[in-house]
Amino acid sequence: MVSVAFINPLSDEGKMIVRELGEFDGVLSENDDLMSIVTESRSQEISDDSFIPRSYFDLALKRIEWYAKKKNDRNFDHKQYDFLFNPDINKFDVIAFFLLCQAIGVKYGPNSRESRVLVESQGKLIENRLGKLSKIERNVLVTNILNSLLSSAHIKWTFFEDLISSKKLKLHELILDSGEIILDKDDFLERFSHKIQGRKPEKMYEALIGDRIKELVMIKMVMQNTENYIRQVGERSNREIEPNPILLELADKISEVLLASVQTFGQGSGGYGGSVKASALNPKAFPPCVKKVMEGMKSGGRNDAIIMFLTPFISYARLYPAVFSENITKQISDVDPTLSIIQNEILPLIFGAAERCSPPLFEDQPQDKVNLNAKLGFGMHQNPELKNEGETTWYTPMSCEKVKIHLPSLCKPDETCKKIGNPLSYYNRKIWVVKKESKAESAVEEDIKD
Ligand code: SF4
Repeated sequence: MVSVAFINPLSDEGKMIVRELGEFDGVLSENDDLMSIVTESRSQEISDDSFIPRSYFDLALKRIEWYAKKKNDRNFDHKQYDFLFNPDINKFDVIAFFLLCQAIGVKYGPNSRESRVLVESQGKLIENRLGKLSKIERNVLVTNILNSLLSSAHIKWTFFEDLISSKKLKLHELILDSGEIILDKDDFLERFSHKIQGRKPEKMYEALIGDRIKELVMIKMVMQNTENYIRQVGERSNREIEPNPILLELADKISEVLLASVQTFGQGSGGYGGSVKASALNPKAFPPCVKKVMEGMKSGGRNDAIIMFLTPFISYARLYPAVFSENITKQISDVDPTLSIIQNEILPLIFGAAERCSPPLFEDQPQDKVNLNAKLGFGMHQNPELKNEGETTWYTPMSCEKVKIHLPSLCKPDETCKKIGNPLSYYNRKIWVVKKESKAESAVEEDIKD
């Protein structure tokens, strides 16, 4: 049977493993037991030494690297990380998890990109680990963990306040009765059997709750508890004089791993992906519809043009122009980790266009700034902040078809429009033409000077 700590490192079993380790001193040393578990993992790729973590410290970084590459690298090879799914690695994995939480808590705190990545990676690891178990084993494990996480059989929905307010869990995913969340089958049958007609209540339970919702709740609770633990570490470290240098070193390495994944596979400044580089915006390459909104909307459709149309276009054109060819879902901080491009380049452009509307958009409707942030993925808040990222989705740019239906006055197609289906594809195509033209112009100028 797989250990509970392999799924929930914050369990009592997990804490016991950490207590047994004692001091941090050995976490940098090569560990033969760890290396032999890794190399003996069934499908593990061992053709390169760099695939094999040699210490707790290495293993912690491999956990983050696995998630960053799985998310961003189309050539991701899961065989390089097979050891992460070998239950024999449990003891080492738990220590690596605590090292990550402490390093991130001490250096970056709970509202950082590093914290978000660790919390998300823990959720994905659990999903993938559960996926490798038999149905029975998976069910027993999830039930055990849920029972230990839930304080009683009757759970008021307010118990999940943190999860719901951070949008990790959505109320509509759950079945509620008299303010209580129903997860248990017997409880469901007792409350609803007499109300269900024409279908077997057991089947209804499986369809509405079953293993799927129980797993979802368990995973989200472990993720929330991970975030809470990082917060506690951060608060505690504020009271301590000197953080452990190993944790600070690990925190720096975590950032390096994330940065490397952005630079190699992502679209941040200096990075690239697919054939379209992320670079400073060139308004000359904007399609006619975007140019029109940039001039300021003088008549109807002002809000939708700025919030629904321009905001996704400008943000993706600047940060992740290859979104449609790569088809990898990203958050803004994956490509703009400090949000400096958002603050210094993207928002000023959008606010400028809003200002030129008649009447200026945010002057008479300041609440629309909240909607704008929501479209960038930062939830319903006044300003984009890392701590709120993920509460909403970063909207991808509208297709030409949708523009023609919802904002028909914007679409004044030119020749390039015949070859594309989305204003972003127009921009990606045109940017090459504009670059070629300006190179040719410079060459002519040089010739004239000569
Ligand atoms: S065809 Fe598409 S890119 Fe061209 S103006 Fe219309 S909406 Fe914009």
